[in-house]
Amino acid sequence: MTVTVPSKINVHLSVGPVRDDGYHELTTIFQALSLTDSVTVSAAETPSLHVTGEGSKIVPRDERNLAWRAVDVLAEHTGRSAEELGSVSITLDKGIPVAGGMAGGSADAAGALLALATLWKLDLSREELTSLAAQLGSDVPFALHGGTALGTGRGEELVPVLSRHTFHWVLAFAQRGLSTPRVYRELDRLREVGDPPPVGDHAPLVEAMAWGDPHRLAELLGNDLQAAAVSLRPNLRRTLRAGVEAGALAGIVSGSGPTCAFLCADGDAAVQVSARLSGAGVCRTVRVASGPVPGARVVDPDDGG
Ligand code: ATP
Repeated sequence: MTVTVPSKINVHLSVGPVRDDGYHELTTIFQALSLTDSVTVSAAETPSLHVTGEGSKIVPRDERNLAWRAVDVLAEHTGRSAEELGSVSITLDKGIPVAGGMAGGSADAAGALLALATLWKLDLSREELTSLAAQLGSDVPFALHGGTALGTGRGEELVPVLSRHTFHWVLAFAQRGLSTPRVYRELDRLREVGDPPPVGDHAPLVEAMAWGDPHRLAELLGNDLQAAAVSLRPNLRRTLRAGVEAGALAGIVSGSGPTCAFLCADGDAAVQVSARLSGAGVCRTVRVASGPVPGARVVDPDDGG
């Protein structure tokens, strides 16, 4: 049973004040991208977790792994123990950079939820899966749903956003990941000592998304976490500049970073930008991706996928 699950970028990320529960109030517009992980589950004698692909060496193999926690969340929801449901072997094949601000761990959690619910024939509704996803993490419901969506609360309350066009992106992976809590702490610090300009209202971006014009969208990309990520990794400034010099319409730090996402005019431009950016020596690896794409979905074995 294999599920593919998309990465995400936040084309708009407005970070509000810290709430009583310690989370920041967010208003964000997610877009699911064609850069994916795949999650394979199968019945096994003893439970195990394997990780292959992009950055796999640093992914935890124990209960800290969000995909692993999906087993416990499903067991609790069904009122059956993990033993009763049956031991499973989980394999994560990663295409999404680890700790890259593209919600790779959340993607694996969403993929594992769907794969396990299908393997165990749990017959859960979309609503049930979404509520279990929210228990696993703020970005997990979006990985399940995909497309383009407005997220509020911690990012887990989703409303679909109309997006008529396929947008073409180039992604620059950094040498090392960034810890999301650290980036939020840095933003809090920057706000205490100064006044980093906020991204403002998301309404014009929603309109540009519906319009489908990448030039218009490029002018409206905004991420409140960018200043914090750049403060922790000043060389991201160079990467962002290099993407635009390579021909992208605009660049943005993805989520909490350090991955930089560059919006391009079309697919051909994205291939050109990626080739030039690869040669600029400002990042570890460059990938081309497009969005929006669907959320977690079972791979049909007849598709050869
Ligand atoms: P966020 O969703 O918070 O923006 P991110 O996209 O920056 O996160 P992830 O790849 O989700 O980063 O990883 C963040 C941390 O989560 C990693 O450092 C890793 O220790 C842990 N983690 C847990 N499960 C996974 C997983 N399945 N894949 C990758 N990292 C995982």
